[in-house]
Amino acid sequence: MKIIDTDEQEWIGFEREHVWHPYSSIDAGLPVYPVASARGVRIKLADGRELIDGMSSWWSAIHGYNHPKLNRAVEAQLGHMAHVMFGGLTHKPAAELARRLIELTPEPLQTVFFADSGSVSVEVALKMAVQFWQAKGQSNRTKFVTIRNGYHGDTCNAMSVSDPENGMHSLFSGMLVEQHFAPSPQSRFGQSCKRSDIESFESCLARFCRETAAVILEPVVQGAGGMRFYSADFLRQVRALCDRYDVLLILDEIATGFGRTGRMFACEHAGVSGDIMCVGKALTGGYMTLAATLTSFEVSAAISSGNPGLFMHGPTFMANPLACAAALASLELLTESPWEQRVSRIEAGLRSGLAPCTEMSHVEEVRVLGAIGVVELKSAVDMHLIQPRFVDSGVWVRPFGKLVYLMPPFIIDEKDLGILTAAVVKVVGSFG
Ligand SMILES: *Cc1c(COP(=O)(O)O)cnc(C)c1O
Repeated sequence: MKIIDTDEQEWIGFEREHVWHPYSSIDAGLPVYPVASARGVRIKLADGRELIDGMSSWWSAIHGYNHPKLNRAVEAQLGHMAHVMFGGLTHKPAAELARRLIELTPEPLQTVFFADSGSVSVEVALKMAVQFWQAKGQSNRTKFVTIRNGYHGDTCNAMSVSDPENGMHSLFSGMLVEQHFAPSPQSRFGQSCKRSDIESFESCLARFCRETAAVILEPVVQGAGGMRFYSADFLRQVRALCDRYDVLLILDEIATGFGRTGRMFACEHAGVSGDIMCVGKALTGGYMTLAATLTSFEVSAAISSGNPGLFMHGPTFMANPLACAAALASLELLTESPWEQRVSRIEAGLRSGLAPCTEMSHVEEVRVLGAIGVVELKSAVDMHLIQPRFVDSGVWVRPFGKLVYLMPPFIIDEKDLGILTAAVVKVVGSFG
């Protein structure tokens, strides 16, 4: 183990007092671990310790870190240009990435808006839905229907459609638009949809459809709002109800997209598509921030024919060429790899490796879908205690609330996956 030198202590001390981390406080927050480098499934800390990555840096680094092909793609693009504005200019990486996304996503998604983060792609999706109805002379349709336990991002409109309790809407009441929430479906993934689930959803939609622009959902897997896996049959019936009540359906595939649930997109479990779809997170293999909002020609044409005939959004770094080049290379790596076998092998490894947790009296449930493994505890864990235990066990796992979960890079081998799950069993066990 390396002794941290004084220079390192200096910047770490400075950053502690001056730099925000996600959902943290300045100075009094949880410890953060300085990282020197990362390669494959290993994150190397500045003190020399190596951690096996169980998080894929929040769903994104599906090919692991420091991948030669992704490095080469970014380096090659750097030789042409790092960025040019997308207003009035264009470039091949954006065009080729759009072509690839349209090929990979289900019908009828045909047009692509590049955004700079998942939250922004959700804002874009919501604005597209509103502009669609405006163009059709229904400018009163500005509300959204969703289900509880969702998470769609941290910007204001994305927060407004995220779970009111997990998202702490009360903190921002007065700032957030009030949306309409149906209960989260109780029918689990793999089960058919209970009638009560779809009835309560339908009654919410029926009541508010005339002021509703779209339904927005995470298909099948609800991520940061609770890591819940719900019935694909529920999603299928929601799609049918959106058609019946004439509202658009926005699918947020930001967490689930690009193979994580065992299908390229989670909506494929239900055999349905959205009118608008958001992708992000794994899009660049964890290299750069990039997201995209795809929609149908029907929606795009309506917006373009309406007043003012323009879609009113345009980020400064829209379609950043470095990010597009990384995304293209990442999608090529993914589609040329045996990712389905890899994900199902990870699924089996998570199932067997996490099984001992089901015997623990303080564990509520263990659930696994694709390359996602969740241990839900009966009460929240103290992050000050649990985080160092994971690091001391040589793994990077970042629990939140009652949830200890794994979503490793797809390239993880059996042995490293075994180390990850054994660490979860040991650390979770130590809280019993
Ligand atoms: C992470 C996430 C977002 C927000 O993406 P950011 O890139 O963090 O803005 C939106 N929706 C879902 C489902 C997510 O998992």
